[in-house]
Amino acid sequence: MGKIRLDKYLADMGLGTRSQVKQQIRKGSVTVNGEIVKTPDYKIDIEEDRVAAGGKCLAYETFSYYMLHKPQGVVSATEDKRDKTVLDLLVSKKRKDLFPVGRLDKDTEGLLLITNDGELAHNLLAPKKHVDKTYLVKLRYSVSEEELKQLESGVDIGEKEKTLPAAANWYQGEKDQVLLTIREGKFHQVKRMFQAVDNEVVYLKRLSMGSLQLDEKLQPGEYRELTQEEIERLK
Ligand code: URA
Repeated sequence: MGKIRLDKYLADMGLGTRSQVKQQIRKGSVTVNGEIVKTPDYKIDIEEDRVAAGGKCLAYETFSYYMLHKPQGVVSATEDKRDKTVLDLLVSKKRKDLFPVGRLDKDTEGLLLITNDGELAHNLLAPKKHVDKTYLVKLRYSVSEEELKQLESGVDIGEKEKTLPAAANWYQGEKDQVLLTIREGKFHQVKRMFQAVDNEVVYLKRLSMGSLQLDEKLQPGEYRELTQEEIERLK
């Protein structure tokens, strides 16, 4: 995560608003590695520096990991002027530095990981890592066996290259429903892949990302913390 401003760090740790923590810093009640620091924009290394406020040492950077069953109608952003965001759904969140790992469209539902662990997010999203993502896709028209093969071997979605090899199968034998596993994450990728075979996605739900599977107990809009085992498997 690197360096961040001291006032932002304190606010993220829940010590008050940005202006409240600035006051605390200017009053001299905050120390970094034992030295009083009175400049709110002082840059601290959250992994290395020891920060104390009012004599109390603040916990080192601790990462949080939530699995959200994203409902339709909310955007995968941290802030939005018009729409409700996925972070608005996390009522118990204590920290302000959480962000969603990747994006699902506003009308897509399903698994979304929310964390403040930038390194883990990078590893899951980096195109070269090819992390599998599985979607349940409901379509306007039936999909033929030939089209499933095309989706698997790669289709032209208007990028330089065709899509990478994928897995596509009818879902529970329904020909207008497909379980699709892709290892890329291009903008609107699933919708564009089905457009490429003259079809249209009418419902999209992400079921898994890498080793992480959507917990079936979570209803749309509900979330829970990841278990230690889930976190370890993702790393
Ligand atoms: N592909 C899409 O088209 N939309 C999503 O939300 C995710 C993958």
